[in-house]
Order: sequence, then structure tokens, then C-alpha cells
Amino acid sequence: MPPADAALRAAAELGPFCAVDDDAGPGAVDLADGDTLLRARAAAVSAVLGSAAAAREVHSLVHLGVVARVLSPALGAALATGVLPVPASVVLQPVGSNPVPMAWAGVRAVAVRTPDDVAAGLAAHWLTPLVDPWTAAVAARSVSPRVLTGNVVSALHGTAVVVAGARPGLAARTRAVLDALLAAGPLAGTGGWRPDGGFARRSCCLLQRLPGALPCADCVLVGLPA
Ligand code: SF4
Repeated sequence: MPPADAALRAAAELGPFCAVDDDAGPGAVDLADGDTLLRARAAAVSAVLGSAAAAREVHSLVHLGVVARVLSPALGAALATGVLPVPASVVLQPVGSNPVPMAWAGVRAVAVRTPDDVAAGLAAHWLTPLVDPWTAAVAARSVSPRVLTGNVVSALHGTAVVVAGARPGLAARTRAVLDALLAAGPLAGTGGWRPDGGFARRSCCLLQRLPGALPCADCVLVGLPA
């Protein structure tokens, strides 16, 4: 099994969202300090979007962006190498456009050979200990947990698209991991496949209400079987 640092190097080759930095820069905030991270990131995003952006929609956008940033290297490494890197802590730069600088500490390697292993490993080592507290911090600021859970599956699907685009040979494994995530565990039933093969989440993310936003590619309203 490759060590965690080798898995992270392989993930970084998939694209900038899948890369982990040595240093997240001045003012970086621990993911575990969800209130501070949300406040700082929401202020930075609101400054770009302007006063027409309502707080709830900004918070959903911030939640989705942070989840995508923190999970992309983990999923990318697991898909590319069969090793899930699991950090003891994650710090992010709250200012700037995504992918923002992000650094991990205390990273260990967990073997995830099959798609079911990847899905179970993500749930046990990432979603429950690292993402759920962040989601709870955002939920406490008025965004519904259903919206936020949908953001998590949307973020993972977004990473899957990036990985399959960068390494077409991983497309089948990527699809199998998404199927496993949707079949069991904390993300079961949060999304599905349209007849045309596209992915759709089962809850709205609110992003289209933001100034200048386009309809979401995985919009809940478009074509998902009941
Ligand atoms: S495009 Fe769909 S998912 Fe996105 S905000 Fe609109 S209704 Fe919600």
C-alpha cells in the first residue's frame, strides 16, 4: 500500500482541487472551528457577490465550497491509489477563490481497495468526524440539514467528474464509488441518476438564487426518477 504522502501526490495530479498545500497561509482556520470558518469565508464570499446575496444562500455556497475543497484530495487519492488519506486536522484559507490553500496535519493511510471500501472509508473517516461538525455549524445558521447533506453528495459527485475527466480509466471505479455512497451510509438516497446518465441531487442547494448564478448541473428539479 502506498503511504499517505504518495497517495496525495497522485491526487494532486488530478487537478488543483485535489491538491493539498504545505501551508494554508496567514489567517487559515481549522475546519473544526466551524463558526469562525463560516464567518470568515461568508464575509469573503459576500464581499465578492455584493449585498444582493442573502445570508442563507451564501452560507450554502460556502458550505458546498468547503466540502468540495476538503473532500476532493481524499476522494481523488482513494480513486487513484486505493489509499484514503485521513488527517488529524485540516486548516483552510478563508479568503480567495476556490481552490483555496489548504493544509493537513497528522495524515495516516487507510487501505480502500474496493468501491464499497472507499464509500465506507469516506463515511467513517471523513464524513462523520470532519464534515459533520462543519455541516452542523452551518445548519445552526439557518440552512436546512437536508440542503447541506445534498451539498455533500453534490461535492463528491463534482470531484468524481473531475477525476474521471483527468483519468478516464478511473471512470468506472468512480461511478461505482458514487453508487456505493448513494446505496448505504449517511448519503444513502441523497441523489441518483437521470435516464440520460446525468447525476441529480435530491435537495436544492439554493445557489441559483445568488446574483449571476446559473442553474445547477445536478439540479434536483431536472429529471430524477421518483
Ligand atoms: S438549479 Fe435546481 S438545485 Fe440549483 S438552486 Fe435552482 S432549483 Fe436548486
